[in-house]
This record gives sequence, C-alpha cells and structure tokens, in this order.
Amino acid sequence: MRQKIVAGNWKMNKSFSEAEETLDELVNLLDEQEKTDVNIIVCTPAIYLEMAVDIAESSAFAVGAQDVSAYEKGAYTGEISATMLNSMQVEYCIIGHSERRKYHHESNAEVAQKVEQLLGKTITPIVCCGEVLAEREANRQFEVVKQQLSESLFQLQPLDFTNIIIAYEPVWAIGTGKTATPEQAQEMHAFIRGIVEDKYGKEIAKKLPILYGGSCTPQNAATLFAQPDVDGGLIGGASLVAQDFMKIINAF
Ligand code: PEP
Repeated sequence: MRQKIVAGNWKMNKSFSEAEETLDELVNLLDEQEKTDVNIIVCTPAIYLEMAVDIAESSAFAVGAQDVSAYEKGAYTGEISATMLNSMQVEYCIIGHSERRKYHHESNAEVAQKVEQLLGKTITPIVCCGEVLAEREANRQFEVVKQQLSESLFQLQPLDFTNIIIAYEPVWAIGTGKTATPEQAQEMHAFIRGIVEDKYGKEIAKKLPILYGGSCTPQNAATLFAQPDVDGGLIGGASLVAQDFMKIINAF
C-alpha cells in the first residue's frame, strides 16, 4: 500500500496574516473530521515556514519549502540551504518545478544537486517533471520525462530513492484550467513507475509515491486519484483556499 499524499504549493501568494489565517482554517477543518490517512503537506513561501511549522505542530499536516539551494553554504546571496530548512523542522521541499525551470533556468543537473542536499539533511524532495505543450503535441512527453528523471534522480543509490516523491506536472496543465485526463495521468504515471522499476527494481518502484499536478481541483481530484498509479496531487491554485484543499484531501 503506497502513501497517499496531497501537497499544496502556495507559490508566491499571501501576506503573512493571510497565510496564518489559511493555515488556522486548515487546522480547524482537519480537527472537525476524523483522522485522515492522507499525508498532507503545505509548501509555503520560505519566509512563512517558521510560522507554518509552529501551527503544524498541533495539527495533522507537514510543512514543505518550494526550493532549496544546490550548495551547502557560503556566498550565495538570497539562497536558503537544506541545513537551514532542516534547522527549521521543514520536512519536504519541492524541486524542479516548471516555474523554476522556466524563470530561473533550473537544469536537471541542478535538480540532482538539490536532491543530494535535501537527502543529506533528511528532507524529502518532491521532484517535479513534465512536458510542455509542444512536446506533448509532438508525442515526445515520455522521452522528455525520462530524460528529466534520469538526469536528476538516477544517480541515487537505491536506499536514497526510497525517500523521494515524484510529481508529474504537465506544464500545459499548470495554472491553465486544462487538466490532464485521468487516462493521460495514469499513462504517464505508469510509464514513470516502469522506468523506475527498470532502474531500481520492482519493490522500490511499487513503493514510490507519484503525484499528479496541473489544475487539480475539488471537481476533478477524485477521478485522478482513482487511477492505480496516481498516489495524490501537488496542488497549486486550489491549495490557497483551505476549504478547496480540504475537499481535495477528502477526494481519496
Ligand atoms: C503547481 O504549480 O504545482 C500546480 C499544480 O499548479 P495548479 O494546481 O494551479 O495548476
């Protein structure tokens, strides 16, 4: 049985008080219902991580960051290291998000370095992959995702691979309202599990959580999560509203 995971990616949204209010609302919603078996993660802007960790202490969600430095420490102005995240009790970190690849030119090689930094500090990387629209239209989505994962993850030893979460996020579906169909998501998730199996064997592939991301909403989450290789979601827009995020958590 694989972990069920719903992770929110707040991106660069909310003031401090809005962030606090949303997390308090999430805590209340979680308190009102029976304990869930879904692993809930909220990835806030870095500046709110301390507050989020404080609130999460008395609730059933964990806190993640949205990026980490590829370097351990030193003269990297503005960067945040895995050591710093670990010292703030941050348990997860998104890396390789398509927005970072696009606006900050993050490469697969850098994602590989970031994975190494995070694993070295016992933070679970949520590694994003996914094709852009032109690549899907050219039927190159499998080739693209295979290259992203091979170059950013397949340097890992098998034991380290058991501490990874992969998020398949077709770039054409992120923030566009165009969700992948459940069949498209399943097809890619099964492909990803297959290449992981080829590299690391059946046992590790079977346990690997693979999340879907891209315009996942309370309306479409249940059909996506019902797919055999979809283990949950990485949720952007809909994670900003506690009630919507909660509906997605309850869509399993
Ligand atoms: C994301 O950016 O990770 C994401 C999935 O965004 P959205 O849900 O808004 O498409």
